[in-house]
Amino acid sequence: MSASSDDNNRNSRTPAPVAPRLRELATLPVFYKLHGKRVVIVGGNAAAAWKVELLAATGAQVDVIAKDFVQRIETQAIEAQNVNTLRRDWMPGDFVEAVLVVAETENEEEATALQQAAKAAGAHLNVIDKPLWSSFQFGAIVERSPLVVAISTDGGAPVFGQAIRARIETLLPDGLRRWASAAKTWRSKVSTLKLDLHSRRTVWERFARLALNEPTRTPGEHDFEAITRDIDRNDKSLAKTGSVLLVGAGPGDPELLTLRAVRALQGADVVLFDDLVSQEVLDLARREAEKISVGKRGFKPSCTQEDICALMIELAQHGKDIVRLKGGDPMVFGRANEEIVALQNAGISVAVVPGVTAASAAAASLNLSLTERTLARRLQFVTAHARGGAVPDDLDWKALADPHAATVVYMGVRTLAQYCARVMAEGLPGDTPAILVERVSHPDQRQIAGTVATLPALVAAGDIKGPALTIIGQMLRERG
Ligand code: SAH
Repeated sequence: MSASSDDNNRNSRTPAPVAPRLRELATLPVFYKLHGKRVVIVGGNAAAAWKVELLAATGAQVDVIAKDFVQRIETQAIEAQNVNTLRRDWMPGDFVEAVLVVAETENEEEATALQQAAKAAGAHLNVIDKPLWSSFQFGAIVERSPLVVAISTDGGAPVFGQAIRARIETLLPDGLRRWASAAKTWRSKVSTLKLDLHSRRTVWERFARLALNEPTRTPGEHDFEAITRDIDRNDKSLAKTGSVLLVGAGPGDPELLTLRAVRALQGADVVLFDDLVSQEVLDLARREAEKISVGKRGFKPSCTQEDICALMIELAQHGKDIVRLKGGDPMVFGRANEEIVALQNAGISVAVVPGVTAASAAAASLNLSLTERTLARRLQFVTAHARGGAVPDDLDWKALADPHAATVVYMGVRTLAQYCARVMAEGLPGDTPAILVERVSHPDQRQIAGTVATLPALVAAGDIKGPALTIIGQMLRERG
């Protein structure tokens, strides 16, 4: 059935959804236990050496046949009990009782002979980098054994497969191997509980949630208790309370997210986000996650801090794991404290994932060190957010006028003229360099450079619409 007829079905009144048919599968990934089985490798070069290591790691009996061996194979043969080298040409009889044969050859006649010999012995053959001659292929693997992820491009582009692997590597912390091991141990313990299918599924769903939420922790007996606790009383009554992660979304470019932020997004049931959070970042959230805008333009016309806290508490009490995405770093002008306190008071677990604050990303994009020795001995972040249209009076104007400081002004576009006039009045020389950077890290990032005396007029003419900050200080002269 084609995709479009599937759509037609959905639009018609057909009640039952039609399960999508599997598309054609180029290869079937299977996970093959090789421990104690015989495999033969024909070839002694570096490509063969890697296959020797891989296959030896599975516990297979590995015979390597070649006229010559690279050092790595010689070393393996000495160090690993299950690796043998045979220094000679291969012969058709070599593959008897082997389950796999891996060969390295550039010669098509030899490849054909290998095919025939492997077939006669009932063994599967892989000719390295020659999918056409091979009855099986190796994928790129992400090894968190006993958790193993395999990636195949059906021999099309192994380097592409490796790049995909690198992506997946970043998503799966090494500690998941401990959880996968624990699962193997707990499997039999779970079966002694004699649970029905539904409860057993709940146990493993709880397990998966724990493992993905806290992958770096070593699982212990209390975790087993937590996943099996009161399981036969049915999960509804005991649905666990959800949690909240305040996650720094960075200034916009998803490349600036931390790995922890990406993982949190992939594990969230609900994502609450501000106006400043970019679509590209949101796209990294789990597809099934509910995404709710709590910025000025979403949720409710006037989404107050109290509304947001109440919403998070309600969702967490319904067992949802929530990611609260905040632009930049949640701990910089993000009102994080109000949310943390409200959640703690409601007994909901809350943690923070830091992000790249707009000032850091702006400095990076300008090749600008914010703390250039002698020119900027102090770095200060200040908000010039207007209350009642005027720049706040209670700022430490002496500090802001310090010619040896680097200052980053957040939320200060509208008040820029007032701000600059005031710091000059307090003694900052008018020729101090200043730069406004708009939409940091977005493709349309823009900057307007001037001095404390000239910047306000330049910015007024510049029609700034996106979020912007201003960096002020002598160190701007030393920009790389
Ligand atoms: N927590 C955020 C700051 C939130 S306050 C952080 O750490 O970056 C909002 C202000 O941050 C905006 O008014 C603007 O001054 C600044 N800002 C946030 N994202 C920005 C961006 N992509 N480009 C420029 N300034 C940005």
